[in-house]
Amino acid sequence: MNKPSFSVCVFCGAREGAKAEYATATRSIGQAIGQRSWQLVYGGGKVGLMGELANAVLTSGGRVIGVIPESLMQREVGHLGLSELHVVQTMHERKQLMHDRADAFLALPGGIGTLEELFEVWTWRQLGYHDMPVGLLNVDGYFDDLIAFISTMVKSGFLSRKQQSALTIDDDAERLLLRLQQLVLVGSTAARESN
Ligand code: AMP
Repeated sequence: MNKPSFSVCVFCGAREGAKAEYATATRSIGQAIGQRSWQLVYGGGKVGLMGELANAVLTSGGRVIGVIPESLMQREVGHLGLSELHVVQTMHERKQLMHDRADAFLALPGGIGTLEELFEVWTWRQLGYHDMPVGLLNVDGYFDDLIAFISTMVKSGFLSRKQQSALTIDDDAERLLLRLQQLVLVGSTAARESN
């Protein structure tokens, strides 16, 4: 199997959330990935927005790689219809494999698990462990308070403007995905030219 031209690792809620807009935007991301024959890497569950996302990619023709710890197979209902489902032993293995198979990261609405994953990949980028784009989809203002707090971090001298702008924020699902893919293309062209 050839590697798809773009592989995006998405973090999102293991719940559906209180507004229908969250699932609608999640399906839009899934369809945009599938219609371009791109690849989704995600936490491997069938519940909540995670399940909506995986199903939308699969039904529109994309590949889906799920990575789930054995202990969560029941709680998050491991999705058995994926292109690849990796059942790993620990959360650390899950994150490592998701990271290894991704070209970019994207967070959709979700809870503390989603935020933990988002902040980890963003802080790893700040520390120079990777240079992959990191995106945040602000569906129906869900992340408004977080975005405002990130500005507070900058104003308070705890976050540089450079790192603030390393987080690509958009409220439109397809546009955000295309922005991330463009950043990957620009990054790989720059890396080729510097060699
Ligand atoms: P949540 O956003 O809380 O609904 O969780 C969404 C996803 O994040 C689920 O797949 C969780 O297994 C995952 N998750 C929860 N806690 C963590 C963590 N500490 N590290 C990585 N993933 C997590």
